[in-house]
Amino acid sequence: MKMPHTIKTYCPKCKSHTDHEVERVKKKKASELKWGQRRFRRATSGYGGFPRPKPEGREKPTKRVNLRYRCKTCKKAHQRPCFRAKKFELEE
Ligand SMILES: [Zn+2]
Repeated sequence: MKMPHTIKTYCPKCKSHTDHEVERVKKKKASELKWGQRRFRRATSGYGGFPRPKPEGREKPTKRVNLRYRCKTCKKAHQRPCFRAKKFELEE
């Protein structure tokens, strides 16, 4: 799937349709100070090991695409429910 670099869409801050910049969001390394990471460290420490079962079965044919829409007038960003795509590109 190809998507334009800028789209005109609704901005919840401006409460109107404005030009938005589309940014691809990548997963960041989990901070060791965040609550979920502290709980994960506690769960994996000591005997027992990993708290969740190993993923079984085939790998999914599509990957989730995380996008962030940044309004050009107020510079606020918002997100939408992400979708899945085999291949994703941002056009110039
Ligand atoms: Zn805005």
